[in-house]
Amino acid sequence: MPTRTRRSPAAQIRVLFEGYSEPGVAGTVALIEDGAQRIVVDPGMVPRRESILRPLRAARVAPDRITDVIFSHHHPDHTLNAALFPRARYHDHWAIYHGDVWESRPAEAFQLSPHVRLTETPGHTPQDITTLVDTPEGTYAFTHLWWDRTGPPDDPLAVDGRSLHTHRARIAKIARWIVPGHGAPFSVSPGTPL
Ligand SMILES: [Zn+2]
Ligand SMILES: [Zn+2]
Repeated sequence: MPTRTRRSPAAQIRVLFEGYSEPGVAGTVALIEDGAQRIVVDPGMVPRRESILRPLRAARVAPDRITDVIFSHHHPDHTLNAALFPRARYHDHWAIYHGDVWESRPAEAFQLSPHVRLTETPGHTPQDITTLVDTPEGTYAFTHLWWDRTGPPDDPLAVDGRSLHTHRARIAKIARWIVPGHGAPFSVSPGTPL
């Protein structure tokens, strides 16, 4: 019987909230729609819950239709609003959590949906992961390796600076755009701090 390969439609990316690190602290929160999956990255600290819910409404996605949530790492500025999504399964560096089920798995090369995969990028913390999304224009990396486009060149909070710089260099080779932990998306350029 002849088989036909059908390409799944391109992943759609939307920043729900653009984070910052002063004054106050808020994480960048993003939505990735990929086939049947609707994924929120880092539903952490924001001024109020509506800061996430309103842009989600504008995208015509109800919170109970979010299928997956990804934590770039375990700090509260990236996890605090995780409970907004009652049906989601949750992904971090070593497991998937859903209801009372803790399914252990390494994040490295985990394919979450047709165009979304995870890679381990420890440095800021030992638990840091980066979400890679392939689009027709290139690959996006959702990551805390950078707080914003300026870096900072050396993350003052990193537990392992050497590892952080190694993974920055690796991700900058893969990705065309970075969606950082506390700022607007930016394109990888020769000026990007590695
Ligand atoms: Zn952190
Ligand atoms: Zn952070």
